Amino acid sequence: MRRAAILLLSAVLMPACLAHYTYPDLVRPLAAPAAGTVFHDVRVFAATSTSTLEHQDVLVRDGRIVSITPSGTPSGTPSGTPSGTPSGTPSGTTSSAPLPQGAQVIEGSGKTLMPGLIDFHGHLTGTAAPPWKLTWPDPDHTGRAYLYCGVTTVYDVAGDLDELVTLRKREAAGEWLGPRFTYSGQMVTIKGGYPASMVRDLFWWPLSAIASGHFASEVSDAADAEREVALRQKAGAHHVKVAVAQIPLGSPVFDEPLLRSVVTAAHARGMKVVAHIDTQEHALLAARAGVDVLVHLVQLGPLSPETAKELAERHVSVALTLVAFDRMERIDELRYEPTAIEREMNPPEVLEPWSAENVRQNKVSKGMQEWVKALEASHALRLQNVRNLMDAGVNIVAGSDGEGSAATWAGGALLEELLLMVKAGIPPAEVLLGATSRAARLIEAEPDFGTIEAGKRADLLLVKGDPREDADVAARIELVMQGGRVLDRKALAGH
Ligand SMILES: [Zn+2]
Repeated sequence: MRRAAILLLSAVLMPACLAHYTYPDLVRPLAAPAAGTVFHDVRVFAATSTSTLEHQDVLVRDGRIVSITPSGTPSGTPSGTPSGTPSGTPSGTTSSAPLPQGAQVIEGSGKTLMPGLIDFHGHLTGTAAPPWKLTWPDPDHTGRAYLYCGVTTVYDVAGDLDELVTLRKREAAGEWLGPRFTYSGQMVTIKGGYPASMVRDLFWWPLSAIASGHFASEVSDAADAEREVALRQKAGAHHVKVAVAQIPLGSPVFDEPLLRSVVTAAHARGMKVVAHIDTQEHALLAARAGVDVLVHLVQLGPLSPETAKELAERHVSVALTLVAFDRMERIDELRYEPTAIEREMNPPEVLEPWSAENVRQNKVSKGMQEWVKALEASHALRLQNVRNLMDAGVNIVAGSDGEGSAATWAGGALLEELLLMVKAGIPPAEVLLGATSRAARLIEAEPDFGTIEAGKRADLLLVKGDPREDADVAARIELVMQGGRVLDRKALAGH
């Protein structure tokens, strides 16, 4: 009865208060020639190590990488090779194999071919809009925005399960263009815990009641945990997301036995468990309960070298999502600006609600304000936390919280994350591994993506120069290929 009342109210209220935008197309897949496509005389960052191969021909056919061979044409190419670059090609002595007849040739000299990027923390059915300008999620735009930015795989770590199942069906029917993805469905949390607590803090009834079920499944005992995990597996979920955090500060959080019951139910089905955490205490709680990946770094307070060591010993990986916290701080301090590529992809009216003017006029709840202040107080600690994770040898991967947090626009936020990882002290080549092969191995035991090797899926990115200098893919991106098809990135011309 209550549910019926909520549905009725929502049908009346929601369309009236939710914004819907029209976006440019961004990308259009071009037909792949039957004879294949050759990237000619290109530098290859295969993501199997931090080094590159110079002057290679990479042949792609039927959606797969067929071969990587020395092009044998190093003479006459621009001297764009950085000195000291490890090279797998004997200098100019190899004879070239003839290019296959009829193949499309893409000139690669002075450029680098790398695997398509992986966002290890995305939300394909979410939105990065503020609570004062509620917006319909637009998975069609989100999918294309990711591809426009060279992100060909997204690890979706929370969204409405029914919507994700629908998206999977649309993908299978060729009705949805976007990165390949795996999903978890709603976050699993303790009764009254984050994110249900945050939704109730941010929105008025009945929207809060509708939205909390949309974001979270609240559990009280092991039977609940078992049921929620089984339900996810049945709906095609690949992993389970748990919330072990307090937003607003002081909201209920999992105890270790209950959290372990979720982990046990998931692992029994071969599903990994990923956790939203905030503090060191909660990171340890998650790790000790058997969680596989923390999908945020410790963002409130310190993460000690000892804790980092324990995470490494327990083989817990971390997707940092520095960009999500950086943007929240900038927004609160009235100094947030979208990046150039985000302005290219999003009409001004989409970005405008996060302007300093709008933020000043639309204060969030007191609970949220306190939380953001705590975040700001931990700004310097966060960088030290990254260094401690690195020093302990924790497996670090790139994640953006795309469309799941404040102004974390799909694709653009991940490109910004790569730069923030470099700023935090991670060498650019290591950052690129964290956004490709390392993330792929965390998604699948034997992934057919995330590296450039014969037989792998042709999800590729062609960039100017050598991205190992700065991990600035946004400034370098030239061409995106998904499943062997070049994506026309000029589709937004005229917008
Ligand atoms: Zn998220």
